[in-house]
Amino acid sequence: MSVPSVPFSEQVNRYFDRAAAHTRHDPGLLAQIKACNSVYHFTFPLKRDDGSIEVIHGWRAEHSTHKLPTKGGIRFAPSVDEDEVKALAALMTYKCALVDVPFGGAKGGVRIDRTRYSQAELERITRRYTFELFSKNFIGTGIDVPAPDYGTGAQEMAWIVDTYAALAPNQIDSAGCVTGKPISLGGVRGRTEATGRGVYFGIREVCKVADDMRALGLAPGLEGKRVVVQGLGNVGYHAAKFLQDGGAVLVALAEREGAIENPRGLDVEQVMAHRRETGSILGFPEARSIPNPAAALELDCDIVVPAALENQITAENAPRIRARIVAEAANGPVTADASEILLKRGILIVPDLFLNAGGVIVSYFEWIKNLSHVRFGRMGKRFEEASNLRILEVVQDLTGRRLEPEVLSRIASGAGEADLVNSGLEDTMVLAYAEIREIARRHDVDLRSAAFIRSIDNIALTYEQRGIFP
Ligand code: NAD
Repeated sequence: MSVPSVPFSEQVNRYFDRAAAHTRHDPGLLAQIKACNSVYHFTFPLKRDDGSIEVIHGWRAEHSTHKLPTKGGIRFAPSVDEDEVKALAALMTYKCALVDVPFGGAKGGVRIDRTRYSQAELERITRRYTFELFSKNFIGTGIDVPAPDYGTGAQEMAWIVDTYAALAPNQIDSAGCVTGKPISLGGVRGRTEATGRGVYFGIREVCKVADDMRALGLAPGLEGKRVVVQGLGNVGYHAAKFLQDGGAVLVALAEREGAIENPRGLDVEQVMAHRRETGSILGFPEARSIPNPAAALELDCDIVVPAALENQITAENAPRIRARIVAEAANGPVTADASEILLKRGILIVPDLFLNAGGVIVSYFEWIKNLSHVRFGRMGKRFEEASNLRILEVVQDLTGRRLEPEVLSRIASGAGEADLVNSGLEDTMVLAYAEIREIARRHDVDLRSAAFIRSIDNIALTYEQRGIFP
């Protein structure tokens, strides 16, 4: 990763200031919205499997408590530091406000390269991290609710909920202390793939607008769009899979070890199977192997999807980006300087704030499920099915035509949890895109500024209606 000239949190603040200039809010209120409420940095000892002791650094930043709980992922990565968690926590505040998810923003991290630790060591780190948060009131169903991020997944979330429940016995809502859990521990169907699915919905909506596509020299629709995806983790893999299923052609894929390219298209499932077998995506049959993964960002394509980490497109490589659309699936993959270069070159940037919001949208659904203690669709699915069947019976009697039993049951079927979650996610992404596109048009600004304007307006409204605590 090339080092940007400006710290990550300052880049986020720059985006904020640029958007705030298009609003009429009190400067003091804007300063309050921008400020990070609290950051907790702690260290703890890890006893490694060989008996040695290592000092581990952890952070949690709660950027805005204008709505509670605060919400944001936990990252395990060597890059984690105070600036990074603060920047990511701020992005969470603006993201939640943008897509009308009633949370403040937070983020946490542990400075480790998870590949260097055994499963047992990762469990000890995760449980101790949770204990540290608990002891300082930085975790709780109504306080601050973590989720997976880079380097963490459902397993870490399971350890967190188990540790929390042990520390807070008799809390009926304790499952809601973290999202992204396995289904058996109160997780919701569709959460694992939610961010990638949301990335797909977002890109699909962008490609639908014929005028915007024409301005970029592209045909409307996702069908046949040549896509490059960087990072095949949770977000990148699922985004690639849904984009491929939606008709896009994956012309190149990149992972830590390098990139592979095939202008005729790569099947992401086969590439993942090859990586599981050989330990690398390189050497995938009929694809050109490129040892430097960063080179993938500069390949000829219609849409490049950085889905690994921040600061991937900087002022250094921005002039060489050949995609017409940069779709920010990761958080902060394009630096502020690079953004300006890309925009001047007429490249459309679909901002992280909007594009990767799928994770927190479905986390919100999971949290609601935990508070209500009932699976979505459990009470209504069969009732819905029965009433649909009754209507179909009447229609069949009136028309004299009979449907095959399988067709009948397919049409009549009621919505289960996965259907409802995916439908809620799609609706939120479609509405959010329509809103930011309209704001961008009205203020004659780029999509990122438009997304920030909507967030700032929403947060300001909360403060204005509630008043500031004297
Ligand atoms: P992950 O750990 O599951 O996957 C990241 C992948 O990127 C890994 O496979 C890693 O090997 C790969 N990678 C690392 N450096 C690379 C490089 N230089 N080139 C190519 N590949 C590289 O993480 P994730 O959860 O998919 O998160 C990815 C990004 O999406 C992060 O910016 C994260 O903050 C953001 N995000 C994640 C979620 C979520 O729900 N997980 C939600 C919103 C945003």
